[in-house]
Amino acid sequence: MSLSQVACSIQASPTVALNEEARLLREKGEPVIHLGIGEPKNKTPIAAILSSAAKLNSGDVKYAPTDGNPSLKKAIIRYTEENYDRVISPQNIIVSDGAKQAIWNVLFALLNPQDEVIVLAPYWVSYPEMVRMIGGLPVIVTPEDGTFVPTFEEIERVVGPYTKAIIVNSPNNPSGMVYPEELIDKIVNLCESKGIYMICDDIYHKLVFDGKVAVPGYRFTNKDIENTKIVTVNGVAKLYGMTGFRIGWVVANKKLVEILTNIQSQTTTCVSPVMQAAAEGALTGIQSNVEALRLTMQNNRDILMQELRAFTGVRCFKPEGTFYALPDFRAYCQNGLVNSSTELAKFLLQKALVVTVPGKEFGMEGHLRISYAGSVKDLTEGLDRMKWALDPNAPSDIYIGDRKLVRDWI
Ligand code: PMP
Repeated sequence: MSLSQVACSIQASPTVALNEEARLLREKGEPVIHLGIGEPKNKTPIAAILSSAAKLNSGDVKYAPTDGNPSLKKAIIRYTEENYDRVISPQNIIVSDGAKQAIWNVLFALLNPQDEVIVLAPYWVSYPEMVRMIGGLPVIVTPEDGTFVPTFEEIERVVGPYTKAIIVNSPNNPSGMVYPEELIDKIVNLCESKGIYMICDDIYHKLVFDGKVAVPGYRFTNKDIENTKIVTVNGVAKLYGMTGFRIGWVVANKKLVEILTNIQSQTTTCVSPVMQAAAEGALTGIQSNVEALRLTMQNNRDILMQELRAFTGVRCFKPEGTFYALPDFRAYCQNGLVNSSTELAKFLLQKALVVTVPGKEFGMEGHLRISYAGSVKDLTEGLDRMKWALDPNAPSDIYIGDRKLVRDWI
């Protein structure tokens, strides 16, 4: 069987694969705790349910315009004005099947073979794979000082004649870090002066803690939407807890949106009008859910930081946003018994039935990504189990209900 070499070189998304593994274990009745998943537990906002239900009830569910429903675009225009202080027109927007497809389309629209895209580590797992799938080269910048925020000099150093774009995700999945304003300012200026696209993946932009703000790149350019190199990607998955609705969008200059629309017209035709109606409901309905989610996540972050103190040798930068943290578990996965974050995550799943995501997948070997998007009960119990599994002085078995967990190595 002969298959595409590029396709065969692409790895499955590890987070999606872990979700599936956890689901199968749960189906078998195993008391799995999922600290890997990137989705809040909150219910869909009622406005989203009502507007999508109304669309369904109409019985008129047909193809929608490829670039998105005008009424959803109107809501996105308002969102952009309120949150980014930018006045845009409908031709500056395309709605896609989640931020994931939006990012893929943007990369596909921008890259020629061998073009380079700067990806800042730690990074969302899909960026390098998407760039590779399209025939481009991801150029990873890893902070040399051991933090999760690269310096401007580290970024500038890798810029070359083939650099086409840089992806900036702040607040950041997986670290939870918010990039400092000065760094965003310098990246914007670099991109504007060198003609490099700055793809801002803003999917977590309102989930920021302790009074911090994720300042949008637009703040640092005086170019209008048609001339700036800034391309913004957003969606309803994280802020509204609407991961299953698969709605994301791109804000960019009209020419790029036209190309994105051509791409989408040849691949998916359009986004389901039912899901678009839901997104419109979320964006135009009461917004207190977003603030409630932010406060819940901040509280969960505090609980996580408190719990992590009980792990000997684990260090963690305090997340400033999102619902992830990326603690340093090198003390536990470079000890000769467990030799990588992948092995450690596997150990924790097998022995403690706790899902975490290996840091290796985000370009940070030795770390584990822990999601605190779930319930406090799951978070504290999951961390307790992890503590038990990793503590050589703890009893070798414990009971979760009538399920006995046995830690037979380490
Ligand atoms: N960007 C980042 C940084 C993400 O974490 C995710 C989802 N995990 C996405 C994009 C994709 O979002 P969506 O579900 O809207 O496709």
